[in-house]
Amino acid sequence: MTEKTDIKSLTREELLEAILALGEKPFRAGQIYSWIHEKLAGSFEEMTNLPRKLRETLEREYEYITLEPVEIQTSKLDGTQKYLFRLPDGLVIESVRMQYKYGSSVCISSQAGCRMGCRFCASTIGGLERSLRASEMLEQIYRIQQLSGQRVSHVVVMGTGEPLDNYDNLLRFLRLLTGEGGLHLSQRNITVSTCGIVPGILRLAREHLQITLALSLHAATQEKRCSLMPIAGKYELPQVLDACRVYFEETGRRVTFEYSLVGGVNDTKEDARQLARLAEPLYAHVNLIPVNPVTERKFTQPVKKDVDNFKNYLENCGINVTIRREMGRDIDGACGQLRKSYMEGRSQC
Ligand code: SAH
Repeated sequence: MTEKTDIKSLTREELLEAILALGEKPFRAGQIYSWIHEKLAGSFEEMTNLPRKLRETLEREYEYITLEPVEIQTSKLDGTQKYLFRLPDGLVIESVRMQYKYGSSVCISSQAGCRMGCRFCASTIGGLERSLRASEMLEQIYRIQQLSGQRVSHVVVMGTGEPLDNYDNLLRFLRLLTGEGGLHLSQRNITVSTCGIVPGILRLAREHLQITLALSLHAATQEKRCSLMPIAGKYELPQVLDACRVYFEETGRRVTFEYSLVGGVNDTKEDARQLARLAEPLYAHVNLIPVNPVTERKFTQPVKKDVDNFKNYLENCGINVTIRREMGRDIDGACGQLRKSYMEGRSQC
């Protein structure tokens, strides 16, 4: 049996071609695209302005990807929500919705699991299961918008997985999310976070999108970075920084450096001084994240005074710096932990 085409991952042009090939009129493609990407239909059955026969043909020829919500947790502290979704093949992934004044911001997963092995991260503990298709990335946003009843205005690709390890699907997803006829999000409201896959950063730079690139830096020297992130052994710090410079030059978008502060590991004044030296020439924005404790990892957050001192030192060097607000501390802690606790629960059955 041949696999059915995943209709939700098709671009407008591809969908038009496919519909013409079925012998249908071109306007049908527009209707179908709108049902999928604007009205966020849950099935072909819902596409009520299509003739029944066409709906049946679509059902037969195409796969209509939807995600099934398995669990939704809501923080009593700030309303942040974590969603656990089941993919069509049974794997589970996690997404997060944060409510801000300007709308809601959704953090999506780009892979089920991850093979990058960062030492402080829960998402990588079980390794990579598979990359997500464009439709599966979009569906996290579509379902969350529908389930919450709140318009999604910002998207960060910062959940489980390494987006640049899934480049083609990521690009397709970005085009579908920001293109006309769908949710049509502003590229400027989208952030893609990477651990530093140099060829991926350079490729993305050449796409000339207006999205924000966030680099997970976490250490300002090659040696320290390597001890936290195995991928740093493959793509060394000078190369990664050079790729960020190319990204900035090609797109005009300032890069964000994410820096998880780990007590006694990367939180000294000397660390701050070295970080400032890297951020300054790139006009990079530094986002400090007191490390989220993960049960299997020994890392702990620095005390608040040390976090403030680190931030002040950078500010005094003229660096644009924020401390990431901790949201949803009461709901299954760090990134990837809801998915992980769910999978562990199941494997014990
Ligand atoms: N693979 C991508 C995106 C997913 S991780 C990347 O590496 O950027 C999203 C961000 O959360 C990264 O900056 C990652 O380093 C950080 N992160 C992972 N686990 C964390 C933890 N326990 N505490 C704080 N930040 C963490």
